[in-house]
Amino acid sequence: MNDRLQRLRREAALEEGEGLFILRPTNLRYLSGFTGADSYGLITGKEAFFITDSRYTEQASRECPDFDVVRWRDPFPPLGATISDLAGKTGLRSIGFEPAFVCYSLYREIAEALGDVAFVPAEKGVETLRYVKDDREAASIRKAAEIADRAFAALLPRIVPGAAERDLARDLAYEMERLGADGKAFDVIVASGPNGSMPHAVPSRRRLEKGDLITFDFGALCDGYRSDMTRTVVLGRATKKQKERYQLVLEAQQAGISAIRPGRLGKDVDQAAREVIVSAGLGDAFSHGLGHGVGLDIHEEPFMNSRCERRLEKGCVVTVEPGIYLKGWGGIRIEDSLLVEDEGVELLTKTPKELLELL
Ligand code: ZN
Ligand code: ZN
Repeated sequence: MNDRLQRLRREAALEEGEGLFILRPTNLRYLSGFTGADSYGLITGKEAFFITDSRYTEQASRECPDFDVVRWRDPFPPLGATISDLAGKTGLRSIGFEPAFVCYSLYREIAEALGDVAFVPAEKGVETLRYVKDDREAASIRKAAEIADRAFAALLPRIVPGAAERDLARDLAYEMERLGADGKAFDVIVASGPNGSMPHAVPSRRRLEKGDLITFDFGALCDGYRSDMTRTVVLGRATKKQKERYQLVLEAQQAGISAIRPGRLGKDVDQAAREVIVSAGLGDAFSHGLGHGVGLDIHEEPFMNSRCERRLEKGCVVTVEPGIYLKGWGGIRIEDSLLVEDEGVELLTKTPKELLELL
């Protein structure tokens, strides 16, 4: 029996007559191994049903050996009726759902079809299990991180005056696939010159100019798992101010990384990095949390910001990504993905962090 299903039943404290409806694609993939789309899971104390339509029934039978594949959609009954039928057959009195992912219209359809069977927000779900990565998951993220490092090295000669942000973003994504990634972990960010003051700038047609700071934020996708890293480089010789501010962000990043160990609260790690930037008088310019978990999703628990009460554990994979953003001047961010170890961390993204002056 699939160990993850058993752990879910334990974590969610599924009692006799209770089921869990799974919608979030990454949760379904985590439990079942399914790599397709538009499918649902229904987990009971003893059974696991994989609900999908004719586009995916063959794939699901192959990829999800621990699940009974159930077909819905014409000529079979609609989704609500399918779930209600399974609830009747297995004697469910209540089904929990992922409150952050079930939209209102789907909620209404299923709740109405279920009639007397309760359809209620689940308190604990698959995310609880995903918090700590096992060795295989860590290996996939490690591979994604390594590919991103190599892709960035391949891109460096193309970061020249006149190159457009969009073209560099596309080239970086292409390099990652060429090096064996299944795709990109998220839309590549390339933010040059004044655009760098927007933490999640969308790559534009702007062409690079001598003297620009350029921020690249990107990651690779391998076996469903993602890596995430950011490097800021300067085109030409860095000015004194660029160097000073870069060193500040780097110092904050190193302080954040050094603060990571099992048992630490996310907010304490955030604080360790943030106080470096605050004490230099640039606290307002560091306008987001320090980092986040990364895995099947690009942003997942723990969200390490000043309010984060989650404790890090061995096997968590998180990013550390302080930045400063100054309107009209630009921005600097440095980000790594790392695996929490018994003592300290394993750095997964390894591209050097000394300020790179591209001459
Ligand atoms: Zn990133
Ligand atoms: Zn990130």
